[in-house]
Amino acid sequence: MAKVVVAEELAPAGLEALAAGGEVVNAAGFSRQALAEVLADADALVVRSATQVDAELLAAAPTLQVVGRAGIGVDNIDLAAATAAGVMVVNAPAANIVSAAEHTMALLLAQARNVAVADASMRAGRWDRAKLKGVELNGKTLGIIGFGRIGRLVAARAAGFGMELVAYDPYVSPDSGRRLGVEILTLDELFSRADFITVHLPKTDETAGLIGESAFAKMKDGVRIVNTSRGGIIDEEAIVEAVRAGKVGGAGLDVYEVEPLDESSLLREEPRIVLTPHLGASTAEAQDRAGIDVAEAVSAALGGELVSSAVNLDAGPPADLEVTEYLPLVERMAALFVSLARGLPSQITFRVGGELADHPLAPLRLALLKGALSGVTSEHITYVNAGAMAEAKGVRIVTETSEDAREFVSLVGISGTLGERSPSVTGTVTGKGETLVGIDDMEIELPFGANMLVLRHEDKPGAIGRAATFLGEQGINIANMVVGRNVVPGAPALMGFDLDQPLSESQVDALRAIPGIEKARFLQFRS
Ligand code: NAD
Repeated sequence: MAKVVVAEELAPAGLEALAAGGEVVNAAGFSRQALAEVLADADALVVRSATQVDAELLAAAPTLQVVGRAGIGVDNIDLAAATAAGVMVVNAPAANIVSAAEHTMALLLAQARNVAVADASMRAGRWDRAKLKGVELNGKTLGIIGFGRIGRLVAARAAGFGMELVAYDPYVSPDSGRRLGVEILTLDELFSRADFITVHLPKTDETAGLIGESAFAKMKDGVRIVNTSRGGIIDEEAIVEAVRAGKVGGAGLDVYEVEPLDESSLLREEPRIVLTPHLGASTAEAQDRAGIDVAEAVSAALGGELVSSAVNLDAGPPADLEVTEYLPLVERMAALFVSLARGLPSQITFRVGGELADHPLAPLRLALLKGALSGVTSEHITYVNAGAMAEAKGVRIVTETSEDAREFVSLVGISGTLGERSPSVTGTVTGKGETLVGIDDMEIELPFGANMLVLRHEDKPGAIGRAATFLGEQGINIANMVVGRNVVPGAPALMGFDLDQPLSESQVDALRAIPGIEKARFLQFRS
C-alpha cells in the first residue's frame, strides 16, 4: 500500500480521495525534521505553498515517486532536484478556473453598477441614488485578452449577460474562436471595439506592461477594464491616470504588481476602481477541487501513469486520449524489445502507423524509453527521468510515421540493432487490450498478459508439443498461446504464451534446453 505524506492542511475531500488509494500520514504542522523522518519510506508527498521541497528534503525521501502541489504555483518545489531524482511533480492547474471566472464576472458587474462605492456611501449614512448611475453589460462588446481556460469560462458567462464577444490570443485560431461564438481579433482591433476588457493572460516578458499608456490611447473612451490574471500586466500608474482623465470609465482589479498592495498605492484613492485582495481562487469549492485534483494526479502517478498535469516532464504537448491508451503498450513492447535484443541499442526506431501517427508522439517516446531502460538498469526509471537517463546512455529514438497500420486502426513498432541481433516488435490496442501483433517478420496476435513467454523454435513437428508438455509438467497453466511462422520455409517459427504464473530462471533455461527450441525469453509485467 502506498504511503502518502500530506505536509500541509488539505481540504477533507482531498484527504478522502488520497485515503482511497493508500495510507495517508497527515503531517500538517510537523517540524522539518519530523517531516523528513516520516518521508523516509514515503511514496508520495502532498504540499501547498509553505513546504520547501528542496534537494535536502528529497534526499530524505529515497522511495518518493511523486510530489503533489494542491494548487498551481510550484515555486516552493525544486523541480530540477525532483527531476534528477525521478520524482514527478504534479499540480492542480484547473481547480480554481471556475472561481476565477466567477470573480471576473463579480468585478465586471461591481464596477459597472458602482456596487463598492454605493455600499461605502450607505454605510456612511448617505442615499446617493442620483450620483451612482451605472451601465449595463447587455449589448456591450467584451474584449477578452488571453482566450485560455478562464477566458473561455468568462466568455460563456458573459454570453448569458447578452454581451458581444471578441478576443485576442495569438495562439488561438479564428476557427476555434468562432465555434465558441467569439471573434478573434488583433490586439489593436480589440482595443478599438471593446466597451469592456477583461485580461486572462499568464505573466511573461511579452505580457508584462502590455496594458499601459499607449494601449489606453487606443481604447474607446469610457472603456471598463478588469484584471483577475496577474499583477504587472496592467500598468498601475497608467490606469490611475486613465481613470482620472475619464478615458477609463471604471476598473476592477484582483491582482497587483506587488502583493500585498502597498498601503499608499494610488489605486486605493480612486473610487472608480474596485479592488479585491487576490480573491480569484479563494472559494471553498476551488480548495476542495485542488485537493481532489491533486489526489487524483498523485494516485495516477503512483500507478505509473503519465499525468497530464505533471510539470517536470519533457513530453511536449500533453498526451491526448488516444496516446494515453498506447502508453502501457509501448512501454511493454520496449521491455520485450530489449529482452529480445539482449540489451539497449544506441539507436531505436519507433514506427507509428495509422491514425495514431497524427497525435503528439513525445509521450509515447518517453514510454518507450521507460520500458526499454527499466529492462537494462536497476535504477528506478520513471517518465520524469527516462529522457535524461537515455541521453546519459547515448540512446536515440528515430521516429517514423506512416499511414500503414495493416488491418488495424493504428500500429506501433520498435526495432533496432545490437550486435548480431535486430529484433522488432509490433503491437496495437484492440478490444482485447494491448496486443502484440508481430515479432520480427512474423505476424501473431497475443494480448499482453502478466507473464509473457516467447520461444523461437525449429518449424518442425514436435517442438510446440514438447514446450507445452514441459510447462504442464511444471504445473504452469497456459492462459493464452499463439504460433507465428515465417513465410520462408524452414526458417524458425515462434510461440508466444501468456502464463498464469511466472517462470523461474531455471525453468526458462530448461525450456532453452528442449530439442528444437532455439531461444526463450520470459517477461513479467504488472497487470
Ligand atoms: P491559460 O494558460 O489556460 O490561458 C492563458 C491564455 O493566454 C492562453 O490561451 C495563451 O494562448 C494566452 N496567451 C499567452 N501569451 C499571450 C500573449 N502574449 N498575448 C495574448 N494571449 C496570450 O491560463 P488560465 O488558467 O486561463 O489563467 C489565466 C491567468 O489567470 C493566469 O495568469 C493565472 O495565473 C491567473 N489566475 C488568477 C487567479 C486569481 O486568483 N486571481 C486564479 C486563477 C488563475
